[in-house]
Amino acid sequence: MSSTSLDAFWMPFTANRQFKSEPRLLVSAEGMYYKSDDGRSILDGTAGLWCTNAGHGRTQISEAVSKQIHELDFAPTFQMGHPLPFELAQRLVKHSPEGMNHVFFTNSGSESVDTALKIALAYHKAKGNGSKTRLIGREKGYHGTNFGGISVGGLGNNRRFFGSLLTGVDHLQHAWTPENTFSKGLPDHGVELAEELNSMIQLHGAENIAAVIVEPVVGSGGVYMPPQGYLQRLREITAQNDILLIFDEVITGYGRVGTAFAANRMGVTPDIITTAKGLTNGAIPMGAVFVQDFIHDAFMTGPEEVIELFHGYTYSGHPVAAAAALATLDIYEQENLFDKAIELENHWQKALHSLREYDVVKDIRNYGLVGAVEFHQGDKLGERGYNAFNHCFWKENTLVRCTGDVIAMSPPLIISENQIDELIASLGNAIKTL
Ligand code: PLP
Repeated sequence: MSSTSLDAFWMPFTANRQFKSEPRLLVSAEGMYYKSDDGRSILDGTAGLWCTNAGHGRTQISEAVSKQIHELDFAPTFQMGHPLPFELAQRLVKHSPEGMNHVFFTNSGSESVDTALKIALAYHKAKGNGSKTRLIGREKGYHGTNFGGISVGGLGNNRRFFGSLLTGVDHLQHAWTPENTFSKGLPDHGVELAEELNSMIQLHGAENIAAVIVEPVVGSGGVYMPPQGYLQRLREITAQNDILLIFDEVITGYGRVGTAFAANRMGVTPDIITTAKGLTNGAIPMGAVFVQDFIHDAFMTGPEEVIELFHGYTYSGHPVAAAAALATLDIYEQENLFDKAIELENHWQKALHSLREYDVVKDIRNYGLVGAVEFHQGDKLGERGYNAFNHCFWKENTLVRCTGDVIAMSPPLIISENQIDELIASLGNAIKTL
């Protein structure tokens, strides 16, 4: 492909000119491997973008999609319906934490986040607590790229170019302390950081705070696991103060940490969970927001002929996306994929932490089938991360992801122990070149 033919597509979250001068193009995929446009098999260490938890090229999904497009390509879900999203919601809530029996469909993680924030605000209003409007996010949080999500998000570059954003938003500090370096699983230090929420409640008054949103495992902000007990403490404080707790599980949902949702493994039940990505194995865009029954029921009290929530998307519950999600769920259930990340965790952890021997490595973090290797900064911020990622792609035939000087990995849940070893060895080779 000549470089001029790449001009028209303005690529998202990409250094466009750098990419187009040496494009990394993927043209097909099967199982654990992508195929690049120059014919190489590339071991997928990232499940695409934390999406293809069941591996690539699943014919069950492509056949379901194809059949559905022929049968019913589109039908509205505003004051009309078709069976698939009802069936999908019913099946999904069998996997969600206790009491979360209602699902609102979206088309992406960003839309799931904005939907969750709006439901939280409208819930308090429905309960007669209209002053509860403040939203609290966290430094380093990534909640997609829509205005709600970047307002509660805590990544400077995603916010600073886009005006004043939502008002009435605060951020908890990043839940990480240096003593946690090279922790395995959930780190020991930092539970006390959750107490900052109490300070915010002191400052603003609980009667003015609607919700707190956090990722159970910080993804795009650099892959950080929550300190032991931290999420429990957030849960206690929010419950005591009638503040909704939202877990953004767009990357942790659908088996990434060894249970259907991180909430299940961490033993903390939030009020709302946002998801997307793994819901359809990445095959068709779709998101889902799970809410506690008490939230849903608070909307169902007015006159029956009145719309309860003035929110939704043309494609909420799209038939083709729902068909993809149902086929994906069949695979997750038939192959017990939600258990896989725990089964592989020890091997994954041992392999990852073997990279500690390199001086350039500043920290290693892991939980479930999530892993991160952070480098000491070189001449420029992010240079080592990018060089390692680029080396892996061109020289090692592996796909990892860089976010600053952190290499993030989240392979499909079908990865074998040998493939884990291959992936980590490839990163080791890349590290030697830094
Ligand atoms: N929330 C989290 C935690 C994410 O990691 C992401 C994407 O990576 C999003 C939201 C946004 O999802 P999308 O890119 O589908 O809008």
